[in-house]
Amino acid sequence: MIKVCKFGGTSMADGTNMRRVADIIRSDEERRYIVVSAPGKRYGGDIKVTDLLYETYRNIQKHGVTGEAFQKVANRFCGIVEELALPFDIKEVLKETEKELLRERSEAFAASRGEYLSARIMAALLNVPFIDARDVVKFNDAGQLNGELTFSLLKEALKGKRRAVVSGFYGSDPEGRVVTFSRGGSDISGAIVARAAGAGLYENWTDVSGFMACDPRIVPNPQQIHSMSYKELRELSYMGANVLHSESIFPVREADIPIRIKNTFRPEDAGTDILPTSKYKFSGRTVTGIAGKKNFTVIFIEKSLMNAAVGFAHKVLAVLMRHGISFEHMPSGIDTLSFVIDNEQLKNGVLDEVCDEIRTAVSPDNLRTYDDVALIAVVGHGMSRNVGTSARLFDAIARAGVNVRMIDQGSSELNIIVGVDNSDYERTLNAVYDEFFSEQA
Ligand code: ADP
Ligand code: ASP
Ligand code: MG
Repeated sequence: MIKVCKFGGTSMADGTNMRRVADIIRSDEERRYIVVSAPGKRYGGDIKVTDLLYETYRNIQKHGVTGEAFQKVANRFCGIVEELALPFDIKEVLKETEKELLRERSEAFAASRGEYLSARIMAALLNVPFIDARDVVKFNDAGQLNGELTFSLLKEALKGKRRAVVSGFYGSDPEGRVVTFSRGGSDISGAIVARAAGAGLYENWTDVSGFMACDPRIVPNPQQIHSMSYKELRELSYMGANVLHSESIFPVREADIPIRIKNTFRPEDAGTDILPTSKYKFSGRTVTGIAGKKNFTVIFIEKSLMNAAVGFAHKVLAVLMRHGISFEHMPSGIDTLSFVIDNEQLKNGVLDEVCDEIRTAVSPDNLRTYDDVALIAVVGHGMSRNVGTSARLFDAIARAGVNVRMIDQGSSELNIIVGVDNSDYERTLNAVYDEFFSEQA
């Protein structure tokens, strides 16, 4: 079986960790193709190389120089190569990179250099070929992945190679200009390589021993999730469980390749398996996991007989479309319709404009907005099997003294999404976690 392994930022943070990564790879002959992130944080308060590179780009834009941020990037990479005692002329490569940064003046190019350099170093450490994602991961002019072309270019590049290291996070457009995925996108790169390699397993190595039932930074010591389905992963990661990028399942889904989350710092731990929904065995749990995100606005629209007014939603959607706004959820009732939109898209007076235009378009009886709303998603195939899940959920939230701003129950019965005030977010997550997990311990 071929295994494709992706190592995240913490795993690549310094020379010691990179050595650990090399040991993990060498300990299993099946670990053939490796995808790496840029060096992440070494300790709390440290800055990720990718963030330093975005700052470098801003320096170039503003002052025409790479500045202190790039100096820090250079120091990190020089430190790593020195620690690993590699025969790799990092100074020369960095000099060339700096010239290219000034020449290309592209944010995506700048951001991609962390992955480019860490992949080259890892390839040198393992003494295996380096494959530049710019040559094999292809986007179309609209910025979407061109899967067909990418898989065939990658297949060709991997052919005949026992092992290889591919840089994560980026690719290029039809003109060869660098394009990146959204933040955390090396997870997607790993899934693409897994698909192209015909892998039997996509191992995603990070700094936790798998998916926990809730964000460990908010709920202390949450239970571990042993396995979940692709669908559950998509819901949880989209809603903030950022262990794995929510778009990682698309490349592997069509080939039914399972994903295993593993801990670089505790490789013996079992981790979490993410399985094709058809192969997933019901765990017996009502809820598989809970995730959430802050900073949304709810636009609530009420109008009697809305249900009978043909084209009502269409007119409201046309307003959002004119402003280029995408929404997260659209819960509706007989006479009510709500839109949940992240605050970022409504800044600088856009919210007021949108509300005015909705009033003109559909003359609602009532239009209200709630800002600073946090969304909490309770996810699990088991919810549809167990009567009374929502009653338990809302009871737990009420007992915590929290006001619910919005409810959306997906028609798949895979999730229930609740909107609460940002300030109630942590309290609600803990209350919901206790309700569904303390008794299952
Ligand atoms: P990497 O750099 O390896 O890609 P990330 O930082 O992207 O790692 O993802 C791992 C982090 O995700 C963990 O360190 C943890 O803080 C966070 N996280 C958020 N939600 C969860 C969850 N439900 N279970 C485990 N980790 C979580
Ligand atoms: N280095 C990129 C980021 O920080 C991509 C990744 O780590 O997956 O977002
Ligand atoms: Mg990540």
